[in-house]
Amino acid sequence: LKENNARHLWHPMAHPADSLANPPDIIVEGDGVEITDVDGHRTVDAVGGLWNVNLGYSCAPIKDAIAAQLDRLPYYSLFRGTSNDAAIELSWLLRDFFAPDGLTRAFFTSGGSDSVEVALRLARQYHKLRGEGARVKYLSLKKGYHGTHTLGASVNGNANFRTQYEPLMPGCFHIPAPFPYRNPFNESDPERLAQLCLSALEDEIAFQGAESIAAFIMEPILGAGGVIPPHASFMPGVRQICDRHGILLIADEVITAYGRTGAWSGSRLWGVQPDLMSTAKAITNGYFPFGAVMLSDRVAEVFEQDRTAKGSIGSGYTYSGHPVGAAAAIACLKETERLQVKDNASDRGAQLYAGLQALAERHSIIGDVRGGHGLMCALELVSDHGSRTPIDKATITRVHRATYEAGTMVRVSGPNIILSPPLVLTEEHVMTILACLDTGLASA
Ligand code: PMP
Repeated sequence: LKENNARHLWHPMAHPADSLANPPDIIVEGDGVEITDVDGHRTVDAVGGLWNVNLGYSCAPIKDAIAAQLDRLPYYSLFRGTSNDAAIELSWLLRDFFAPDGLTRAFFTSGGSDSVEVALRLARQYHKLRGEGARVKYLSLKKGYHGTHTLGASVNGNANFRTQYEPLMPGCFHIPAPFPYRNPFNESDPERLAQLCLSALEDEIAFQGAESIAAFIMEPILGAGGVIPPHASFMPGVRQICDRHGILLIADEVITAYGRTGAWSGSRLWGVQPDLMSTAKAITNGYFPFGAVMLSDRVAEVFEQDRTAKGSIGSGYTYSGHPVGAAAAIACLKETERLQVKDNASDRGAQLYAGLQALAERHSIIGDVRGGHGLMCALELVSDHGSRTPIDKATITRVHRATYEAGTMVRVSGPNIILSPPLVLTEEHVMTILACLDTGLASA
């Protein structure tokens, strides 16, 4: 199994030679918030799958809903007027959940990259239908991550996810992210930095010409870029600027929706109503590849007024509104509500964040501790505090391995250790994660 894993399964982010020397862990079982690898080693999954297994690996209501749907209607797509009852019920549920965000219509996809692509396309088409066809450009944040498709990759702020595929889509521009630990302004005060980033956005809009811009896309808390929550004034400031210039605001909530931040959506955390929202991941607890794009009335009505616009989103998806995925999502969202997991995300998130800050007192390798909004936290490791030199790959790999061997799976991304455990974890699980990290960091 290990040999084939390295030789014949194409790993997107590991070189085969590295995999042979340092085999990626092969997970064979999941139970609650814990996973077991092929060698029988059991760990707390502090990655939560990939930010998505919010309810853990033993969620019986989702499993039962999938089984029942497979028995009754295993497939029927949303295409040329056909539909299925599970997808309709899910759209109604989502309307309820996202009404406070001003979002009332749902379109279904197979995952986060699809959802981003759809939202970006809808933004352009919205302007075309309004006779503003010149609005084709997109703005986004440096350090933002928006998936793997061509439009999403074009708005990705991290050059590592862009440059090897260039030329990508022209007309995509990135502005500095409100990241106090590292920013081009050398500004560490979050509020002043938010204002500087908003000014940079205004400057970019003036430079490009507001009438050429379709949308600004952002994650309410930057996730894959290293868990970077902005100051509370930032996203409301973005909303105001977008409104002033007729630019649509797309919230990419593939990570932040469905309770991870301690709020139902990341936009709600900042009191902002986006025009479009991309979601996926935790909508089915990771049990089925599925995503939802939520539309505001303002956007949806433009499409609904024009009968010719209905062939939107290119040509539709074979798996849009897949009934098994929709059934999984319905069960998942009901369970998410019933267990009030967003409240547990807040409480356990506060405990984890405080524990990480305590670790930073003891381990000088920790340069920055980020979190404070639910169960999204990160440690940025440095080799030198003063210069903030990012840690080298060999050392962070050692920390990663030692933490895993001690009993906790974490994610490493560049110089960051990212923590996004299931939202149902207990106080004891948080203590285990912190103790394992303590051991892992000591190995550096
Ligand atoms: N947007 C964001 C904010 C993400 O974090 C991700 C995935 N990590 C995506 C889009 C892409 O989602 P997927 O991997 O499901 O295609």
